[in-house]
Amino acid sequence: MIRHVSLRMLLLPSALLLAALENQAPAADAPKPNMVIIFCDDLGYGDLACYGHPTIRTPNLDRMAREGQKWTQFYVAASVCTPSRAGLMTGRLPIRTGMCSSHRRVLFPDSAGGLPGEEVTIAEVLKSAGYATHAIGKWHLGHLPQFLPTSQGFDSYFGIPYSNDMDRAAESPRGREAFWAPKAEYWNVPLMRGTEIVERPTDQNTITRRYTDEVVRLIQESKDRPFFIYLAHSMPHVPLFASEQSAGGSRRGLYGDVIEEIDWSVGRVLDTLVELNLDKRTLVVFTSDNGPWLIFDQHGGSAGLLRDGKGCTWEGGMREPALFWWPGTIRPAVVRELGSTLDLLPTAAKLAGAAAPADRVLDGYDLSPVLLGAGTSPRETVFFYRGTQLYAVRKGAFKAHFITQPAYGPGKPEQHDPPLLYHLDHDPGERYNVAEKYPEAIAEIRKAVERHQAELVPGEPQLDKTL
Ligand code: MG
Repeated sequence: MIRHVSLRMLLLPSALLLAALENQAPAADAPKPNMVIIFCDDLGYGDLACYGHPTIRTPNLDRMAREGQKWTQFYVAASVCTPSRAGLMTGRLPIRTGMCSSHRRVLFPDSAGGLPGEEVTIAEVLKSAGYATHAIGKWHLGHLPQFLPTSQGFDSYFGIPYSNDMDRAAESPRGREAFWAPKAEYWNVPLMRGTEIVERPTDQNTITRRYTDEVVRLIQESKDRPFFIYLAHSMPHVPLFASEQSAGGSRRGLYGDVIEEIDWSVGRVLDTLVELNLDKRTLVVFTSDNGPWLIFDQHGGSAGLLRDGKGCTWEGGMREPALFWWPGTIRPAVVRELGSTLDLLPTAAKLAGAAAPADRVLDGYDLSPVLLGAGTSPRETVFFYRGTQLYAVRKGAFKAHFITQPAYGPGKPEQHDPPLLYHLDHDPGERYNVAEKYPEAIAEIRKAVERHQAELVPGEPQLDKTL
């Protein structure tokens, strides 16, 4: 028993030690915590002030980082929208759920597929524990009624069901021209409430504000019952839109306006929780689905010191800012351990006292010991898939790339044997291949790949089905 108590704890006065131990898990009779996951679209690792951006202001996100936990090695399940979101929703790699393809990288308005109904979502897990469940914003896991949030465990849905750059209108300027001075009417995207289209084209100028109003209203209405809110902003995916109130306010230009408006939105959510005395009973998580879309020049974000961005398996494509805020319960810290959006379902299940699905393989781990200051992250490995192919694997500090490929464009996959190897603690920017120096690290990673592939059962592909 004593082996599990750190030296630091042994040195604590006994009253503090008791408090530290009591802090390990919420008391059995404590009310179930509310949960809010705020999920951005194409936000880069380097786009927030608290992650080092020199000119974008994010005081509310900085507050989350200061009062909660800021994770520096937090990953997503894929480098593009649909498979990344499927990973968060299910705690399973997209290869298992069929939500990836080597042909189409995401779902489109002509897609007939979506997240299969037999998958168990985080909303279904929390609903089974008595939560009210609401999805707001971008869904991108199938826009047909049987795939929409209201068929996947959510009581309500309000948002644009896929990317905000889809459904190009005939009058839209061609190519990228439309993005440099975007107008809402260039994209004929629907805004849905439940399964009904309530506006088309969506006035994207006000979309971040309207999502926020919806969340504030839902929090006010749900305050007597535990709730789970999934707020998936359509921004900062191009085309970029900021409201009148935010436009022109940032030194970073339009992209900065968009991020600062998201930060304003985060502030409204936190303030609402504080006003209603719910802040000490609510976990708020902030992260994004994939890295910055660098091919959109200044309309794309920044991965900071990480290499490349959205669409590839370099760090910039799949490592994201991640903030966890729950005053009084989460131990404030900068966390340098490994975490993933795949871990949110098992973590939420644990905190809610709900059962995570036991009849299938989950790729996520319960991170609550780290959040509660009671232990270390159980995650040691990160798999970097592109479509249905495993391109790279991180184990501990080392990451091996077996295949690399430019994020976009005609560049073909390039095989590496031995793999390229990077020591991410020494070299987070993946600049110096150290494969010759650490053959044992490559051997370890190869073993992890063998174990993973031996138990892998790919799901029926969903992304290539068209209407
Ligand atoms: Mg995205």
